[in-house]
Parts: sequence; structure tokens; C-alpha cells
Amino acid sequence: MSTGLDRGASAPSPAPTTTPATTPAGSPVVSRMRRFGPTIFAEMSALAVRTGAVNLGQGFPDSDGPASILDDAVTAIRSGHNQYPPGIGVPALLEAVAEHQHRFYGLPLDPTTEVLVTAGATEAVAASLLALCEPGDEVVVLEPTYDSYAAVIALAGAVQRSVPLLPGPDGFVLDRDGLRSAFSERTRVVLLNTPHNPTGAVLSAEEVAAVAALAVEFDAVVVTDEVYEHLVFDGRAHVPVATLPGMADRTLTVSSAGKTFSVTGWKVGWVSGPAPLVAAVRTVKQFLTYVNAGPFQPAVAAALALPDSFYSELAGDLQRRRDLLVAGLRSAGFAVSVPAGTYFVVADPRPLGHSDGTALCRELPHLAGVVGVPVSAFCEPGSVAAQAVEPLVRFTFCKSDAVLEEACDRLQALRSR
Ligand SMILES: *Cc1c(COP(=O)(O)O)cnc(C)c1O
Repeated sequence: MSTGLDRGASAPSPAPTTTPATTPAGSPVVSRMRRFGPTIFAEMSALAVRTGAVNLGQGFPDSDGPASILDDAVTAIRSGHNQYPPGIGVPALLEAVAEHQHRFYGLPLDPTTEVLVTAGATEAVAASLLALCEPGDEVVVLEPTYDSYAAVIALAGAVQRSVPLLPGPDGFVLDRDGLRSAFSERTRVVLLNTPHNPTGAVLSAEEVAAVAALAVEFDAVVVTDEVYEHLVFDGRAHVPVATLPGMADRTLTVSSAGKTFSVTGWKVGWVSGPAPLVAAVRTVKQFLTYVNAGPFQPAVAAALALPDSFYSELAGDLQRRRDLLVAGLRSAGFAVSVPAGTYFVVADPRPLGHSDGTALCRELPHLAGVVGVPVSAFCEPGSVAAQAVEPLVRFTFCKSDAVLEEACDRLQALRSR
């Protein structure tokens, strides 16, 4: 399978140092996109198919979401919701997003002016940056970085300034010195992501507050990608940036149905925030996709209103699968810190004698019949973050118990070598 979240064959990540993934010489693509050629993700998925390895590289669930959301989509198709929906999204979904933000976080939103439906979180992030950044403006991101961010920053002609998220004994933490030095008078946007892909980190309240304080000091807009808002574990609560004092006025909050309802192919996302910022995003969004997912929008609206038990069972079920994979990786000899959120776990293979995550990912299908992705593929080549994560491999646990158990069994082969 080569479709799904990391968008397989087309995932535009910076190249790992060992494969300069620039586009071929003579490519007609514009110069600012030239460094986004095919990457390790495409290579790893192809490798999984070729070798019959268990693919824990790509983060998409192998089961469907709740039956009700599927039924509601079928009903919507059968009952004529098949033409262009309104540009900002169907009213039921706009209202459901506003209601969701109020129910879970106490955030009041006017559904008619403060919410915009997008083609997934991906378009929400892209349209936000294209709407807000003049060429040369700076965008602060956490590195490792979700793979679409660098490409969109480049498309906007903006400049990426990275704050390293560094691996520590209890998981990944923000490099506080790096945080301040990433800001300047050119900072226009802070593009945050918590819970964080690929590290599984959930920023602490202090970390979020530190970022917020700098956004205020440098008068930047915060665009916050919270697609894993409901995938936090061990009783933790997700704290949206917009709930911090003074932040609602300068924050665009992005989320999507893909991760919460296990329907990543539907590409229903949304962005919410103050009306002038949402209007700016809409100005760009209307010329990217205009609209999408007509019959899926009412289905997602109904799903957002599912009872709290749906949300807690989702997190509880994934937490159980997280624990299954963490235990399997540890018994295979990896050092693993337990992720606080998302559906990714980062494993350190140095106790097994491997110190190059990219090289290990290429060998792993042959050594153990499993595929993961090197965390360095989410970094700018040679950066502080890239060096810190060089040995590390990301595996997903959003797969069935049977698939996870098979992967864990296979990984035990590493021990005996
Ligand atoms: C999966 C993912 C997305 C993409 O969401 P879509 O709704 O499919 O566009 C965006 N951001 C992060 C961090 C993700 O992991």
C-alpha cells in the first residue's frame, strides 16, 4: 500500500543525507521546489511491497472509523449532497466544529465567520501560510517537521526557522535556547504541531506558554496543527494554544477528520480562529480547491457530536496498541520512550548496534521483515535536529493487533543477530 498519510510516493520531505532527493537535472519544476524530490517514504513503501514486510512506516489506520460516519456518508450521497458545497463548508459542519471547540476546550466561535472547512488539515496549513506570508517572511517550526510544512513554506517564498525538538530520557523536549533564537523581527507565523508527528511528543503547558509568549513578543500569528488532539494518552489533556490567555486573537487552529475518525482518505479538515484571519485563509483557499468532500462534510458534522465515550475509547484503544508496540520494540532490543500522543513511536536502535536510522530502515525488511521510517527524513539535512535524531526510527501503531503482533514477532530476529 502506498497511499495514506505520509502520502507515500509524493511525500515532499527534505532528503536524508544519504540520498540527495533533488528532482532530476533538467526538471521543469520551479527552483524553490527543486529540493523536494521523491523521498525515503516512497522508497520505504516500495520496499515493503517488494519484500512483503509489515509496513509500520506510514501513519494511516488499517480499519475504518465508526459505522455511523460511514452510514451517514452513504446517506448523504444517496440524498443528493453531490454538488459543490458552500465555499466555507456546509453549515452543519461549521456549526459542529464550533460546538466541538466549545465542548472540549471552552472556546467560543461564530460558525459563520470563524470556521472554514478545507481539503484536510494539509490544505488548511497551506492556505494559512500562503495567505499570511510575504516572500522573505519567516516561519518558525518545530523540527523534526511534518513533511508538508517545508514544502509549503518554500511555495510561499517564506523562510523556515527551526526550533529543535530533542530526544531526552523522557521523550522529546523543546530546545529552549533554540526557541528564542528562531524568532526575529521577520517572524510572521509560528507553525506549531502538538501532539507532534513524527515524535509523538505532546508539548507541556510550559512549552506551549513559552512559544505563545514569543509569538506575542514578536507579534506573530500562530498556526497550530492539532490533528492528533484526541490521541493523547495516560490521562493527559490536549491544551490548544488558542486557550492560553491572549492567544485566541492571534491563533488559527487546524484539525481534521482523518485521524479522529479513521477516515484519512476523506480529506475533511478545518481551520478556526478570529474572523479576519479566517477570511484571509479563505481568500487563498477558494482558489486552491474551492471546495471538496461535499457528501463527507455532513457525515463528519454528525461524527463530531459523538458522545465523550467515543473519544475516550479511541484514545484508550490506541494507548493499548501503543503499549503493545512499545513492549515488542523493547523486547527486540530497541530503546524506546513512551509517546504521550499521536500514533507514532520513535525507537532508538543503538543498543542493537545500529547508529544510522536511514541505513537501518533500508536493511530492516531483510533483517526482520518490518518497515519503519527514519526520523531524520523529517529534518533539514545537517540540522541540529537531524543530527540528534540520526539513529532513530519511527513506527506507527495505528494498525490491527494482528499486524502489530506479527511485526513484534518478526522484530525479535534482531536480538539473535
Ligand atoms: C496526517 C497529518 C496531517 C494531514 O491531515 P489531512 O487532514 O489528511 O490533510 C496534517 N498534519 C499532521 C501533523 C499529520 O500527521
